[in-house]
Amino acid sequence: MRKNRSLFYEIIYTFISLAKGMAVTFVNMWRKKVTLMYPEKRWELPDNYRGIPTLPTDPATGKDKCLACGSCARVCPEQIITIEHEVGEDKKRRLKEFKIDVSRCMFCGLCTEACPTKGLAMSHHYELTSFTKEEMVYNLEKLHELGGQFPAEPEPENTGEDSDKQDEKAVGGEK
Ligand code: SF4
Ligand code: SF4
Repeated sequence: MRKNRSLFYEIIYTFISLAKGMAVTFVNMWRKKVTLMYPEKRWELPDNYRGIPTLPTDPATGKDKCLACGSCARVCPEQIITIEHEVGEDKKRRLKEFKIDVSRCMFCGLCTEACPTKGLAMSHHYELTSFTKEEMVYNLEKLHELGGQFPAEPEPENTGEDSDKQDEKAVGGEK
């Protein structure tokens, strides 16, 4: 008799647990969704999101703005930036190779802040999976590819005045 009673209570408790679980499911069905069907859908990232640093190219010249000065490599707390340069016939330094070991990057952005030409920019790129450690070292070609292009400089507004007057205003301010 006692055995039968405990079985009866077990059946009741099972139904109560099921009802509680279904109630939680029902309530959450109407809540705002906080997940996405990744990778088909992705979050829109804020403008100041810090993904891996990249080297965007200048739309005017088609080249990056890097001077191979090495400031970014010196300031990087992880010491993961390697820069190679060459000196041309005009005695100017030119960037030959630029590597970042993204497996150790902590996305602090210090390298971009130290760049005098603002040629190094934090991207929105965050998918860094790979099968080998070597693939995690991004070279110049890859950093160009991921960086894309800087937005083109906006055209100066045409106010209808002659260009000399516009230049005077730009230098001395409107009087
Ligand atoms: S974001 Fe930080 S850790 Fe990553 S390369 Fe730049 S300075 Fe180094
Ligand atoms: S600080 Fe800027 S200009 Fe200097 S090496 Fe780094 S990316 Fe190039």
